[in-house]
Amino acid sequence: MRPSAPALAALALATLPASLPLAAHVRQPQAAAAPAKVHKIEKLAENVYCIYGNGGNIGLVVTDKGAVLIDDQFEDIAPGLLEAVKSITDKPIKYLVNTHWHGDHTGANIVLEKQVTAIIAHTNVRSRLEKAQAKEGEKKGGLPEITVGFPDPKERAVMAIHLGGVEMHLLHQAAGHTDGDLVLGLPVAHVMHLGDLFFNGLIPYIDLESGGSLEGMIANADGLLAWIPEDVKLIPGHGPVGGKKDYARFRDFLKAVQAHVKANPKLSGKELDEAFDHKTWSDFKPLGKFLSYDKFFDIAAGRRPK
Ligand SMILES: [Zn+2]
Ligand SMILES: [Zn+2]
Repeated sequence: MRPSAPALAALALATLPASLPLAAHVRQPQAAAAPAKVHKIEKLAENVYCIYGNGGNIGLVVTDKGAVLIDDQFEDIAPGLLEAVKSITDKPIKYLVNTHWHGDHTGANIVLEKQVTAIIAHTNVRSRLEKAQAKEGEKKGGLPEITVGFPDPKERAVMAIHLGGVEMHLLHQAAGHTDGDLVLGLPVAHVMHLGDLFFNGLIPYIDLESGGSLEGMIANADGLLAWIPEDVKLIPGHGPVGGKKDYARFRDFLKAVQAHVKANPKLSGKELDEAFDHKTWSDFKPLGKFLSYDKFFDIAAGRRPK
């Protein structure tokens, strides 16, 4: 059964911190014992799954020679994630791909590195994780061992995984959500994991401090929408699995936001929020207390929200 969108959104956002700074998005939630079962599985195609839980949505591709996991949420709920994977396959996880460096997508790297052959991510994911871990009191480990691309995100890169007869493409995108965004395409099943370049039915977080921008989010959406097939299933970073229409709607929403911000350069985030055509875009919900519309408008204008 396909879980309902609001339920999934609530699940996905449950561990996001309630207060700013926005950089907290990348940190792991503190203490609080993890609920027994937070993971829900949705089958997308033969041997292809989306696993929802707390944090960024996870993709799983199973082949005869092992599985590939895309993103892994948080360390404290890693046991539940591994149980969910075991309920699907007894094949080991061979590769773990990180779509970007944020903790709600890489927090369980530290657990999974002990059992996977390699963690794979964009070059800037490794360097940003390394930098974050260098701070006092931060746990160390779980760094990607295989990196794709160059530090300059304008230098695009592509990598392919060939495993058990299944081909997967890791496509580095222009700086959008961060400067190390990879999407994973699975041509045989018409499934893609878009990481946080796609928030389905939610206003997106854009990490300006990690090189992200609204313009980049839009450019990537335009680029991907131009060639992905009509029947593609898209795993977003947050929100329920969607299709091409949902991603186009998200792109159009971002364009409306961009036009609104450009037309009103003197307005604050709060004023932009008040003057926005919320009626037309009522299907885009705020990320709870973590990211309200007024803060989102500040980010859209390239300003750090207060
Ligand atoms: Zn995320
Ligand atoms: Zn993110």
